Amino acid sequence: MKVFPIQLRLSNAFLVIGDHPILIDTGSPGEMDAIAAALAEKRIHLRELALILLTHGHADHAGSAGPIRMNLPIPLACHNADVEMVRKGENRPFETIGLEAKIVKSFVPHKFPRIAPDIKFENELHLDQYGVAGKVIHTPGHTAGSVSVILDNGEAIIGDVLRGGYFGGTLLRHKPMTHYFAEDLTKIKPSLEKIMAHEPRKLYVGHGGPLSAESVQRYMQNL
Ligand SMILES: [Zn+2]
Ligand SMILES: [Zn+2]
Repeated sequence: MKVFPIQLRLSNAFLVIGDHPILIDTGSPGEMDAIAAALAEKRIHLRELALILLTHGHADHAGSAGPIRMNLPIPLACHNADVEMVRKGENRPFETIGLEAKIVKSFVPHKFPRIAPDIKFENELHLDQYGVAGKVIHTPGHTAGSVSVILDNGEAIIGDVLRGGYFGGTLLRHKPMTHYFAEDLTKIKPSLEKIMAHEPRKLYVGHGGPLSAESVQRYMQNL
């Protein structure tokens, strides 16, 4: 099993190749072609995906799910608590954290093509049935329906639970940082503890990264 980050304009999506390929997140609106091109480098076509999972329902992660699904019957999975956002194609309001966040907020997309997820879940989603050894766990805070992927190979994909570095990872991309936005900041630490209980050695994030387990542990000590 292998994880291939796909660096898009504002965010990272991830191709995970196990017995079948799955896609984690879909970037911002208008990025279907960029995702298809990244898959083509691994000789994979979009139609071969066994699953598309959204780490959460924000426009820079769910933004191209609709266009991909328009013609391809790939199951789309999303946590119950973020389904409404994805169906509406619009971010819920969130708190900004710090001055940089206010600037960032003005240039991230807030609307995207709406889509109805096929698979909705509450606590966990096992990925073995889609050909990937691992599971999805609920890690709220950034949004109520944020989830993290825990893979059996010791890697984790945690979406926007944390971010790496400044300005979308342009600077110090491996430094764990509190994300610019949160629906409920008090839930971030318990969610991180839940992730770290699985002892991942490498953590992929939606912006910048990846992060080492040691750097995340140091970050948590200061929370
Ligand atoms: Zn987000
Ligand atoms: Zn994001």
